[in-house]
Amino acid sequence: MQATWRDRVRRDVHERRTKRSTCFTKKKTQLLHQKRRKKQRARNRSNSPSSTRLRPHSPSPPPMQSAPLRLAVIGAGAAGLAAARELRREGHAPVVFERAAAVGGTWLYAPPATSSDPLGAAATHSSLYASLRTNLPRESMGFLDFPFSAAAPGSADPRRFPGHEEVLRYLEAFARRFDLLRLVRFETEVLRVRREGRGKWEVTSRKLGDKGSGQEEVYDAVVVCNGHYTEPRIAVIPGVDAWPGKQMHSHNYRVPEPFLDQVVIIIGAAASADDISRDIASTAKEVHIADRSAPVCTCVKQPGYDNLWLHSMIDRAEEDGSVVFQDGSSIKADVIMHCTGYLYDFPFLGDDSTITVDDNCVDPLYKHVFPPEVAPQLSFIGLPWKVIPFPLFELQSKWVAGVLSGRIVLPSKEEMMEDVKAFYSKLEARGWPKRYTHNFSNYQFEYDDWLAEQCSHPPIEEWRKQMYAINGINKAIRPESYRDEWDDDHLVAEANEDFKKYL
Ligand SMILES: Cc1cc2nc3c(=O)[nH]c(=O)nc-3n(C[C@H](O)[C@H](O)[C@H](O)COP(=O)(O)OP(=O)(O)OC[C@H]3O[C@@H](n4cnc5c(N)ncnc54)[C@H](O)[C@@H]3O)c2cc1C
Repeated sequence: MQATWRDRVRRDVHERRTKRSTCFTKKKTQLLHQKRRKKQRARNRSNSPSSTRLRPHSPSPPPMQSAPLRLAVIGAGAAGLAAARELRREGHAPVVFERAAAVGGTWLYAPPATSSDPLGAAATHSSLYASLRTNLPRESMGFLDFPFSAAAPGSADPRRFPGHEEVLRYLEAFARRFDLLRLVRFETEVLRVRREGRGKWEVTSRKLGDKGSGQEEVYDAVVVCNGHYTEPRIAVIPGVDAWPGKQMHSHNYRVPEPFLDQVVIIIGAAASADDISRDIASTAKEVHIADRSAPVCTCVKQPGYDNLWLHSMIDRAEEDGSVVFQDGSSIKADVIMHCTGYLYDFPFLGDDSTITVDDNCVDPLYKHVFPPEVAPQLSFIGLPWKVIPFPLFELQSKWVAGVLSGRIVLPSKEEMMEDVKAFYSKLEARGWPKRYTHNFSNYQFEYDDWLAEQCSHPPIEEWRKQMYAINGINKAIRPESYRDEWDDDHLVAEANEDFKKYL
């Protein structure tokens, strides 16, 4: 049927009205956005340390500005637990997927599967060795409003640098105290995360032991907390394929007994290399540390040991079992242990996550958390290293939770990308290699305090900052005994005084 002249006029008028109302809605949204940003800035300005006080177990945030969201959290280690608590505090409905049968992640000590690849991830998540004690003082290590105190109920190892079992007990207590266990789907692995239409995410997970392609569910957003101490990074050693000895990664080291009377070369100079070399020296014939940052001519017996040496990096390995260092000296060795760190790995993310991992740089991420293109529907908690992890996880989680509910407003995509680029330029100017993108050794507290400011939370306590710095110095002065001898009892007293608010 032909449209009449009157019909056409009616349709034109209707179309013009619809157009006007869409423009009006757009404008209104922009105005609302501007208002929110203004409010946020004002809140940030007034957030001086003296104007806000942390109350026991942090007050609930103000009511959120969007409907509660259904969220997938991947991992129930310290980061996943912190995220679950903050997301729920904000009124959201998190589901935590955890491959293991319990919470704790790294702190769930487990022997590696005996038949597995000693250089690989070896079917176990944890990288803990039996003798491991924390390398941070417990007062500094805990969540901000849930002290890791020997005075807390359930503590069984009162040492200031306790064994790993105590950290697990602490994380379990945290999960119980904030009723998080019922949010966790144990023994359930996330296989795939894909972007769906309408800004939602499809998460495919599978219960351990189940066959088939898994269960697909749709979530409003995904928070990735899968840890980064599981996928070993291996040193490149020319000639090693023909070398007849055994190679393994510190990920699979547990106890020194298997190294009885052997000659072991440890590659690395970080915390694990320090601990493991001393541990193994208790049973091995000789232990030689190869440190790539040591001068070429280094060959130094370590004080207090007659079987532990420090060398420059390995130059090559040879068929007759010799390992040659950069200064040309060589030894016949039975084992090369790679204490060479780990790689970020997100096997469940597809290209639509918009991030890539190259040389241990997860790119692009606004403030190491949000990929600008898909923010805030995808976020990462816990990527920074050389930090005090738990408080940082907590602040990142508060930020993500606040952003997801619309209470905290992110800059535009373009502004976030600019920020990422500016950060990369800074790294370049400092001459830092790409693999140090998430190394926070010089500015973790600046970052923590920035996050705190976004969330209208008080900055990190002064005693915690000082304790971290003093522990670093003490460790350098007393590498053998820093866990049992220290000079900062005044800070311990200050921390314990602070903890009275929460215990
Ligand atoms: C040897 C060693 C010593 C350390 N010492 C200290 C210390 O003294 N003090 C300190 O504060 N920190 C220390 N750390 C750092 C430690 O890693 C952090 O404290 C913290 O435990 C990291 O927590 P996370 O939740 O980020 O990761 P993780 O603890 O690794 O937890 C990640 C969780 O995600 C789960 N997961 C991964 N992928 C999937 C998937 N696809 N589906 C379902 N679940 C999945 C894993 O099973 C795991 O439970 C140490 C780390 C190592 C390796």
